[in-house]
Amino acid sequence: MTTDYDLVVVGGSFAGLICARTAAMRGLKVAVIDRRREPGAAVHTTGILVKEAAEEIDLPPDVVRRIHGVRLYGPSLASIDLAEPGYYFLATDTARLLRWLALDTAMAGARLCYGTSYRGACYEEDRLRLRGVDITTRYLVGADGARSAVARTFGLGLNNQFLQGIEAHVPLDGDMAPNLLHCVLNRRLAPGYIAWAVPGVETLQVGLAAARGVKPDLDAALAMMNRIGGIDTSQVLERRAGLIPCGGPVRPFATDRVLLVGDAAGLVSPLTGGGIYNAFRYGRRAAQAVSDHLLDHGPEPSRVLAGEYPGYGAKLMMRRAMDHVVGDRLVDMMLKTPWFAEAARQIYFRPRGLLRGVKLASAFRPSTVSRAAR
Ligand SMILES: Cc1cc2nc3c(=O)[nH]c(=O)nc-3n(C[C@H](O)[C@H](O)[C@H](O)COP(=O)(O)OP(=O)(O)OC[C@H]3O[C@@H](n4cnc5c(N)ncnc54)[C@H](O)[C@@H]3O)c2cc1C
Repeated sequence: MTTDYDLVVVGGSFAGLICARTAAMRGLKVAVIDRRREPGAAVHTTGILVKEAAEEIDLPPDVVRRIHGVRLYGPSLASIDLAEPGYYFLATDTARLLRWLALDTAMAGARLCYGTSYRGACYEEDRLRLRGVDITTRYLVGADGARSAVARTFGLGLNNQFLQGIEAHVPLDGDMAPNLLHCVLNRRLAPGYIAWAVPGVETLQVGLAAARGVKPDLDAALAMMNRIGGIDTSQVLERRAGLIPCGGPVRPFATDRVLLVGDAAGLVSPLTGGGIYNAFRYGRRAAQAVSDHLLDHGPEPSRVLAGEYPGYGAKLMMRRAMDHVVGDRLVDMMLKTPWFAEAARQIYFRPRGLLRGVKLASAFRPSTVSRAAR
């Protein structure tokens, strides 16, 4: 028997769960479908929340760990410490966080269908019918990550630039300062990005990301962190890996009664590779816009979000400059200069500040939303 929903969200991770939870709390009949067997399975992210992400949603204290600054290393491993009064990051037990969020979403009234793959959808009068499941919906949100199948079905923009990230979890001991994120700039090891060590909730998370086409060398990153902090690399307790979109927002991100959020929409900072804050923020905003539209004859949700999604203009420019201009020797020379520390502070502690970038559309641009793909 077919079940009719107001909103179906494809993807039950950060963006999809927040979207579904908000829409259900606003009175919509909502379902989430996700191909993972359960929430929090096969986590691919380090899961650090910037303070702004923590302000979008209040989390139980036992799934997070506060971190109050950054130790930034140059290629020679000389370092500077960066902090800002009142600012913090949250390391997370990401699997537990996602399980908690899924429970909260179900309690808000959404139906969660894990172990269910999205296989396409088509328009059927005033509804969309999902293939392979007996489900129709008035609105469809694609929160299905960097390689969105929803985007492909409806001819929406696809992410086409990626970093490849990989991470190992090792026991949380050694001499690594426990209240700092440790970030290493090293173009040889992590071209286009950084290597990191995060004292997490129960493990030390060591990883790196590199421009696609370069295989990230996790053993080399572990050896380097061992030199920095004498960490125990003999037992790897968990591995994570995934793609990080870094080319900015996709266009178009929406069509008739369908829109993308989170990584599917390319809402990842091209400089920091962070996307969870945007997944929370715009997952929630998408649900608000859809419920205003369906319940109160509000404007087309894509028009609302086109004026809000970040464009990352300045960050994309800085990223290209970092990729092409700044070599390892120059980084070592610049590391201890006051302006380098200030630039790094802007990147780490002002995700929505000076470098927030050019808005995708301060006035709505038709090219960001495709016409109905019937
Ligand atoms: C190695 C690594 C480290 C990172 N570290 C950080 C960090 O510390 N902080 C930060 O802010 N960001 C980080 N990011 C980025 C961050 O993980 C993403 O921005 C975030 O996960 C985006 O959330 P999302 O809900 O949009 O997508 P995802 O978390 O990718 O979730 C997509 C969901 O859709 C489901 N799905 C996909 N296809 C289908 C289908 N066909 N049918 C059904 N379900 C489907 C998947 O199973 C998945 O659950 C990192 C990324 C990587 C790869």
